Order: sequence, then structure tokens, then C-alpha cells
Amino acid sequence: MLSRRDLFRLVPASVLLPASTRAAEGADFVRIDTHVHIHQEAPALVAALGESGWKGLDIVVCPAVGDEPFDLDAKLEATRAVATRSEGSLSWASTFDARRFEEPEFVASTIDLLRETFEQGAIGVKIWKTIGMAIRSASGSYLLPDDPRLLPIYEAIRDAGKTLIAHLAEPDGAWLPLNEENPEYSYYSRNPQWHMLGKEGAPPKEEILSARDRVLARYPDLRVVGCHLGSDEDDLDRLAARLDSYPNLAVDTAARVRYLARDDRDRVIAFLTRYQDRILYATDFSYRGGSEADASRSIAGRHDLDWEFFSSDSPMEYEGRPTRGLGLPDPVLRKIFRENALRWLPGLGA
Ligand SMILES: [Zn+2]
Repeated sequence: MLSRRDLFRLVPASVLLPASTRAAEGADFVRIDTHVHIHQEAPALVAALGESGWKGLDIVVCPAVGDEPFDLDAKLEATRAVATRSEGSLSWASTFDARRFEEPEFVASTIDLLRETFEQGAIGVKIWKTIGMAIRSASGSYLLPDDPRLLPIYEAIRDAGKTLIAHLAEPDGAWLPLNEENPEYSYYSRNPQWHMLGKEGAPPKEEILSARDRVLARYPDLRVVGCHLGSDEDDLDRLAARLDSYPNLAVDTAARVRYLARDDRDRVIAFLTRYQDRILYATDFSYRGGSEADASRSIAGRHDLDWEFFSSDSPMEYEGRPTRGLGLPDPVLRKIFRENALRWLPGLGA
């Protein structure tokens, strides 16, 4: 495990010193938000995204659990259509319904489906926290990310040169008592189905992430982007150790910049500097219909706030908490907000 002292040792002293004053202005390059959910016609929203100098990756998720109906084909088709009409502002990633994993045709039909989405332009495949936290076999055991029935699917993704986008497990709060001290109290009190503490037969967080890590080790040529700081948002040392162990792992910042904003600033700067080639900026912005003008303001506000946090070195407020911008140097910003996305998600913006 990498200690804070190690991080300091590995990082040039210049970046740990107070950065020169840096205005929280826009960037002089097109930035990429590698994790959004739009999935429907929203021409004004997509146009506003492009006009403000951003591109996005619209990622399809299959959130259904149990017998819940879910029209995956319709979701894939809608997302493909929006991306195709976006004039390059949006790329898209597909997914599959892992609930079918015990059906005899599961592997073959899933690979067929994914290959079809690749032909239609999908640049990656999302797997979601239902794997490890919700989907169970007929006998009751939880499906884990390294289940033998999933392996041929990963191989097909790798062989097609696409990226596996993996939201597996959750913040530590999902396995902590649900009280006001839980950092994710507000989410899990509203979404108790994802609060795993005390759920009989459910694997602990580390078991889910270890299963994911076995996939990383088994397929060193498979590119994996771990969503939400790879679910190691509570502990950057833990994440550092994983990034050191698995060179084919990168992580996105979707909905987790707030963790960075409340962590020790020097430690976050050291972490982002050391792993500057492995971090992809993302928001997890979701458009659920309604006013496109409001949605445009919402995503632009999030992008501006996050850009200020990463680029300025001024005192600021992040979601109600006082913090100070990280003041990352331009080459690092350019990687986190653009170049890493292009490298880890080939085809993006094509
Ligand atoms: Zn998401």
C-alpha cells in the first residue's frame, strides 16, 4: 500500500508547492465527460454541450433487478440514435442484461448483441453494480464479476478492441450502518435496496472488487475503466495499490469529485499527479426528460464547478463545503479532461 510519504516522494516538489495564481476559466481544448446518461432525443441539450466545448460518452445501463421488465433493445437504439445525430458531441457505450446468465444461450446471444452494437458505433460496454449486489442464481448465490459465464463476453470485448466500463460495488457506505455518520446516508436511505450491510448471502465489498481484479489480472489486454474511482473513492491509497497492480485499469471521477474535494488537498494533488494517465473526468450527469434548458444549465454548472476545482488554486465551495482548488498544471488537466479519455476509450468522438 502506498503511504502518503511515498506519494510525496514520487511527485515533483513543484506540484506540491502553492501553484501560481490560475484563473478558473474555461479550457483551450475540447473537454470530454466520459460518463453521462441521456438516452433520448434532447437536441438543445446536446447542442449546448457541444457549444460549451464539451463532448460526452452516453453510457447505457441495464438497471433492472429481479423480474423487472426492461426494454434493453429500445434503450440501446435510442442511445445510438442520439449519439449518431449529435454531430460528434456524443459517443455511446452499450450493455447487456446479465440477469439472463443462467440461460443456455446467454453467452452466445450476448456476444452477438454486443458485436451488433459495435458495428453501430458503440465504443465500450458497461457492466453495473447489479453484478455482485443484486443478480442471483436460481439457487440464490450472487453473480460475481469473474463468473465463468461472463469471461467469454469480456474476451469478445477485448477482441473487438473495445473498453469494459465497470461500475462494480459501491462506496464503503453501502456496507456501513445506515446513520447520519454514513457518508452516503442520503443516498442509501433513499435507495435501501443498495444498502448491503446485513443482507444475507451478499458478498462483502472486497469480494466483489477482488473478483473484478481477477478479471483484470486474467485479461491484461482488456482495457477497463472503473466508474466512480473504481469504488475505492473512500481510500486513495487503496485505489493507488490497485492501479499499481493492474496497468489495464483506469478510473473515472463520475459523481465522486466531492470525495476528492473533502480529502486532504496535498494528498489528492499527489495522487492525481502520480496517476495522471489513469484518471478520466466524468460526471454521471443524468437527463430524465423535462426542460432541456434546465438540464443544459445543470450540466454546464457541474462542468464549471469541477473545472474550477481541478484547475484553480483558489478557495471555493464544493457542494456546500469550503475547499480549495487543486491548481493542477495544464498538461495534467489536459490528460484528465481529454487525452486519457481518447486513449482509454478509443473511438470516442470519432
Ligand atoms: Zn452512471
